[in-house]
Amino acid sequence: MGRVELTKVYEPRQAEAKWYQYWLDQDYFHAADSSSKKPFSIVIPPPNVTGMLHMGHALNNVLQDIVVRYKRMQGHNALWMPGMDHAGIATQNVVEQELAKEGLTRHDLGREKFIERVWEWKAKYGGVIIHQLKRLGCSCDWTRERFTMDEGLSKAVREVFVRLYNDGLIYQGDYIVNWCPRCRTAISDLEVEYHPEAGQLWSIRYPLAEGGGGIVVATTRPETMLGDTAVAVNPNDARYTELIGKEVILPLVNRRIPIIADDYVTMEFGSGAVKITPASDPNDFAMAGRHKLEIIRIMDDNAVITEKGGIYAGQDRYECRRNVIRDLEAQGCLVGTEPYTHNIGQCYRCKTDIEPAVSRQWFVRIAPLAKEAIAAVVTGKTRIIPSSWESTYFEWMNNIRDWCISRQIWWGHRIPVWNCEGCGKVIVASEDPASCPACGGAKLRQEEDVLDTWFSSGLWPFSTLGWPENTEALKTFYPTSLLVTGFDILFFWVARMMMMGLYVMKDVPFSDVYLHALVRDENGEKMSKSKGNSIDPLEMMDKFGTDAFRFTLAAFTAQGRDVRMSEERIEGYKFFINKIWNATRFSMMNIEDLPADAAVRPEDRSIADRWILSRLNRTIAEVIRGLDEYRFNDASAAVYQFVWHEFCDWYLELAKPVLYGGENPIGRRAAQKTLLDVLTQSLKLLHPFMPFLTEEIWQTLIGDGSSVMVSAFPAADEACSDPEAEAEMGIVMEVITRIRNIRGEMNVAPSLKLKVTLATPDAAVQKTLERGRISIANLANLQSLTVTGETAEPKGAATAVAGPIRVYVFLAGVIDVAGERGRLEKEIARIEKDLVVVSRKLANPEFLAKAAEPVVAKEREKARGFGEKRAALGAALKRLAAFAEAG
Ligand SMILES: [Zn+2]
Ligand SMILES: [Zn+2]
Repeated sequence: MGRVELTKVYEPRQAEAKWYQYWLDQDYFHAADSSSKKPFSIVIPPPNVTGMLHMGHALNNVLQDIVVRYKRMQGHNALWMPGMDHAGIATQNVVEQELAKEGLTRHDLGREKFIERVWEWKAKYGGVIIHQLKRLGCSCDWTRERFTMDEGLSKAVREVFVRLYNDGLIYQGDYIVNWCPRCRTAISDLEVEYHPEAGQLWSIRYPLAEGGGGIVVATTRPETMLGDTAVAVNPNDARYTELIGKEVILPLVNRRIPIIADDYVTMEFGSGAVKITPASDPNDFAMAGRHKLEIIRIMDDNAVITEKGGIYAGQDRYECRRNVIRDLEAQGCLVGTEPYTHNIGQCYRCKTDIEPAVSRQWFVRIAPLAKEAIAAVVTGKTRIIPSSWESTYFEWMNNIRDWCISRQIWWGHRIPVWNCEGCGKVIVASEDPASCPACGGAKLRQEEDVLDTWFSSGLWPFSTLGWPENTEALKTFYPTSLLVTGFDILFFWVARMMMMGLYVMKDVPFSDVYLHALVRDENGEKMSKSKGNSIDPLEMMDKFGTDAFRFTLAAFTAQGRDVRMSEERIEGYKFFINKIWNATRFSMMNIEDLPADAAVRPEDRSIADRWILSRLNRTIAEVIRGLDEYRFNDASAAVYQFVWHEFCDWYLELAKPVLYGGENPIGRRAAQKTLLDVLTQSLKLLHPFMPFLTEEIWQTLIGDGSSVMVSAFPAADEACSDPEAEAEMGIVMEVITRIRNIRGEMNVAPSLKLKVTLATPDAAVQKTLERGRISIANLANLQSLTVTGETAEPKGAATAVAGPIRVYVFLAGVIDVAGERGRLEKEIARIEKDLVVVSRKLANPEFLAKAAEPVVAKEREKARGFGEKRAALGAALKRLAAFAEAG
């Protein structure tokens, strides 16, 4: 065939850069707006513009790339839509930090200049992650790359806002929100992280207004008492029946507040009476609504006490807390202090303690939207995989609260609402209005707040395809086929896309949602920089090549389980790559003279040829099933097992005699053709997992200018399965394995040729062995092989059983029996000692109680290994004894 040779070793860095550019040049990642091919589409979970590739991204994007490459090869018009999220708070934080180094705040710059600065930052540093995704081999249609703040998507955002508003699904209201005093914005319930904190529970007595006694309330946040507007008790609490409706005097403030009754109060907690601060607690806020209580805001946006806090005005919340305690104590109102551990909510961006606060916010009325989104999963219009996540989805969607969509930051989609300063009219419009439609005035003031980042990413599946324009791409690719994402953003993002897609497009945004787990270290621990157990994907790609890294991710992605990653595991798959490379080099050297149009009749094929083709067919079916069902570990394991163990370990060895020998030209041609076919099909199966290696090999092996990336994915064909060949090869392989085991156990040098007799009364099996004679003799390295029906045991041979066959390996004169026995006994003694040590450890309750779970598991694994080794050595000794006796 006159092909060029492969280099001695595979150079990932070189191949990766070369083939990625080649694919781009050939426009292979591009999906047509319309096509006669069946559409397949995925939208990328848009990484933050501030993002840097971590293991989570790597896993997420490798899985998407595997699916999209697979679908493309199967003949789909496959689109992987890429882009980035503007990531409101995160990006604003980065730029604010940059400003801080110059001694400036965003307020020094003003809104317009600050936003300019963010765009400058984006142009300079944003989107590093896009380059990193390219290194990963991602076959996104980069010609379509979108950004949540680009013109088209901004238009979509405004359009949806206006529609929701006109449908009465957006409203403005006073609401208690999670307020981050550092970011100075409201953040969603989901963005609050709770940590247990050892604090105090202070008991405070509020004296009755009519004099005498009082009522004791307990709190972990005494400073909030400045804003109390009631004390509540349970209506069934006999201790307080008399007091309901009376008033107490709020200490330090000297305000009169009522004692009210509400079922919400638990009688068992503390004194059974609770202080009510509607402006600082969501439950109290709800109670204020029920009882028409006054809402007094005693903290400003920076969590500093306002003038409503009297003498504490101007103090920050913690300073105020100390002073309030001191003053209550001085007045004799503090009746108890006890240590108390409670959960503190923190901003997930900046780790500042959240201050629940009442403020004017914009909301999406969620119930009508959630209803549709629930129904779509109930009816199976959208499948969630693994399905165990469905119940979580329903649970959350059924209890969802209205969505606070306003954020008090500058970087984002400014809310498209204007107030006319002339007549007070509120204008909600997708285009900036020039004048007031009511009074014609031109003094219009736009709402200061921007929309929650998830508002724009909720539109991602259709906004990226051109909506609100009814584009060809939208018609072709919506609803998208699949979404691949981490389960941790099921609610942040997936649920919102469901609601928005159904509301705007009247159809689900995707048919399948595949939720993958998190990447953890090999012991199942969460990866973190501080623990020192995190793995940098870029470093792994540099060290082991992108394909080894990708394959490892796929191999460890089992549904419903964490992905446990370690450097050793990635290194392990680098050996797989070397194996494939060397097998190809060997194959190419042996098919050099195979004509491109060589035809082989079925009857020319050896059993080994038929066997490997049958196994290949089964492997194709397994890989397809695995990928179709998003069982990435099963798909990758099937191709790994086949290529390494069946093709490289067995078939290449089996084919050697006929490839090397000149005496069977027809058989040789058949083996050559088989070799080429299996290799070609294997490269296709491997391509979605290992795009670079397979392209590098393909371009040399096939050498006709075609690319494996756009070749047709193999299809399984029941007609290609050959159970007869598989059964025959099964026998031959088992015999070879038995002989090799005896060789190993008896410590016989691999180069030493042995005499072997295979005895079986079964005539058909005898025939099989005769047909496999050359294979057995070669692979077991035999001097002579006798196949017989004679069942009497010969002398001087070690024996083994392979199904209906007795295997006799003649060792008389080959090994030193006494020496070998001594060696085995010594080894047994050593292993028994090891076994005692580890067994003692595992029987020690103190060790079991103290040691970490992975440590114990490691010891158990050790014990199991020693046990197995001991058994094998025992068997060898027995065999030796039997052989010595017989001899
Ligand atoms: Zn914050
Ligand atoms: Zn007006």
